[in-house]
Amino acid sequence: YAIKADKTVDSVCPYCGVGCQLTYHVKDNTIVRVEGRDGPANHERLCVKGRFGFDYVSNPQRLTKPLIRRADAPKHAEFKVDPLKWDEVFREATWEEALDYAANGLKKVRDTVGPSALAGFGSAKGSNEEAYLFQKLVRTGFGTNNVDHCTRLCHASSVVALLEGVGSGAVSNQVSDVEFAEVIFLIGSNPTSNHPVAATWIKNATRRGAKLIVADPRKTEIARHAWRNLQFTADTDVALLNAMIYTILEENLCDPEFIRTRTTGFEALKENSKGFSPEVMGPICGIPAETIRECARAYATSKASIILWGMGISQHVHGTDNARCLIALTLMTGQIGKPGSGLHPLRGQNNVQGASDAGLIPMMYPDYQRVDNPDAIARFEKFWNRTLDHKPGLTVVEIMDAACEGKIRGMYVMGENPAMSDPNAHHAREGLANLDCLVVQDIFLTETAYLADVVLPASAWPEKTGTVTNTDRMVQMGRRALDMPGDARQDLIIIQQLANRLGCGWDYKGPESGVAEVYDEMRRAMNNITGITWDRVEAQSSVTYPCRTEDDPGQSVVFVDAFPTKDGKARFVPADLIPANERPDAEYPFVLITGRQLEHWHTGSMTRRASVLDALEPQAVCSIHPLDLDAIGAVAGDTITVASRRGEIALVARVDDGTPRQTVFIPFAFYEAAANQLTNPALDPFGKIAEVKYCAVKVSKG
Ligand code: SF4
Repeated sequence: YAIKADKTVDSVCPYCGVGCQLTYHVKDNTIVRVEGRDGPANHERLCVKGRFGFDYVSNPQRLTKPLIRRADAPKHAEFKVDPLKWDEVFREATWEEALDYAANGLKKVRDTVGPSALAGFGSAKGSNEEAYLFQKLVRTGFGTNNVDHCTRLCHASSVVALLEGVGSGAVSNQVSDVEFAEVIFLIGSNPTSNHPVAATWIKNATRRGAKLIVADPRKTEIARHAWRNLQFTADTDVALLNAMIYTILEENLCDPEFIRTRTTGFEALKENSKGFSPEVMGPICGIPAETIRECARAYATSKASIILWGMGISQHVHGTDNARCLIALTLMTGQIGKPGSGLHPLRGQNNVQGASDAGLIPMMYPDYQRVDNPDAIARFEKFWNRTLDHKPGLTVVEIMDAACEGKIRGMYVMGENPAMSDPNAHHAREGLANLDCLVVQDIFLTETAYLADVVLPASAWPEKTGTVTNTDRMVQMGRRALDMPGDARQDLIIIQQLANRLGCGWDYKGPESGVAEVYDEMRRAMNNITGITWDRVEAQSSVTYPCRTEDDPGQSVVFVDAFPTKDGKARFVPADLIPANERPDAEYPFVLITGRQLEHWHTGSMTRRASVLDALEPQAVCSIHPLDLDAIGAVAGDTITVASRRGEIALVARVDDGTPRQTVFIPFAFYEAAANQLTNPALDPFGKIAEVKYCAVKVSKG
């Protein structure tokens, strides 16, 4: 605290979906300190990333000039990242040259092959306004719905199940509602690492007596606070949850009035549950039958029970079925529509909720209006004054498959890193390398940017103003604190300049790249945020939706009287057992689970360039049970090789007796040992999310 700041600026953390409010202390265009603000999601708390994760902004590897690929620099999936040798691959260009080059490349594909040969990946770590403009550009400038973002690898399956079951893809209750819960059921989530401030709400709730049930194949830190810790066998989620459903039915613990008046489809659930007794399912999921019954009873009979889940639920070929079971639990017990209850998929990235709401998904316009619904088409064709594509677009993994097949020929990627984040990363890199035109807009020369034809230097979060929407449905204001380095430009400006070269004719005016005008247009397209004006977010810093009028305080608990479905009722959708796409066998006897670490965020593009975070976790590690490590003749700290049918990586062994036997856990933030080189791209058929939480691998020393 020795350095006295020139100014302070209030904003929001750029990392996880908790959405902690914070204050930057700035001196000489550098963030010298960050402190937590009393925001509704964090009450002054910050985790290590929010407090110490900001000097990536001034990392010398920041892109400061537009780059164009050298004619003699071939693209291939086996590239080696070397930021210091960037000029062997690219040459610097002026903005005019780079934007013309990018627009002409995309236009050529659109006009010669057709709009459906183009695609765009937008960003969940940019603002709502950027997400809205990006999808508008793809839909109106490219002429296709091939637009997606990292929600496809995050909670796409949860959202499908929620839209189908309760009519809304967002959370029903906010994280802080755990304060009012008697039972907290946390499944497939490691909030201590991934949503650390959310974890503090949960831990404090247990301190005042709430019963925490943790269900996860790995024993993570929060299990220390659990009333019951269900360390179930990976891939048996539906078995465990259906056994809870069975218990509630058999022991008459349902809420018949809620089922009768608020739901449909209960008979089908009852019929489906036969055969899922805890006594039969217990041995499958590795949990004693009586423990399953105990947890089901506690959940069903408490005054208020809340369910929170993470990607342990969603990233499976049965991810949608997993979420359907969670929804069924809430509906059959009436544990929804009141404080301390409901459904909360913990959203990953800081703005993955907002980017999805803004239409950065291939099957929905803003506000989840389907692109094949005639009313929605008519509305948006009038609103945007364009004829639109009426066919749902391709999703993230499908786009990469189509790129490998030569069907997608041009892409615009803003602030995403599919060369690291997509399953079977080598395949994704082949797809990117196969494109006629790849335009990447980012702040660093990421692994994806290495394969680009044009790289556009963009703005980091503290260098721009815009709104983001957290996991709690809070629309919050991020404010510019720093100037950009070199010739980097604001993302909102770059999108507009590219769009106008593709014939969009946009003219958003006003300070900060016209952000308020873009927000206002987006607000007019989205009923849920009609009452949240730009000035209101500016004044209050955070407003919760749904919020239909300007004097509406916003609804923190939804579904109180009805569900936003056609008949106002929620729907039970039963689920059966579907095994993982790739099970362990004699050749690949281990299970690989991928995920995140407390210190590193997603593909590491920011946190590995943040000095404190990088110092805390400087190298790629593989967590493994000590007995398994011993069995391969290695000890902690040794280099081990983990291989799947798709690739192999070498990394450092870390002993972890919370990782089950015959299982390894690897974070996906390290390009030198990219976990996604191993993962399985098999998709959940409904959410089109890949099974990155489960595949077969072998492990050896060296
Ligand atoms: Fe940022 Fe999430 Fe940490 Fe809060 S909990 S400081 S939002 S990373």
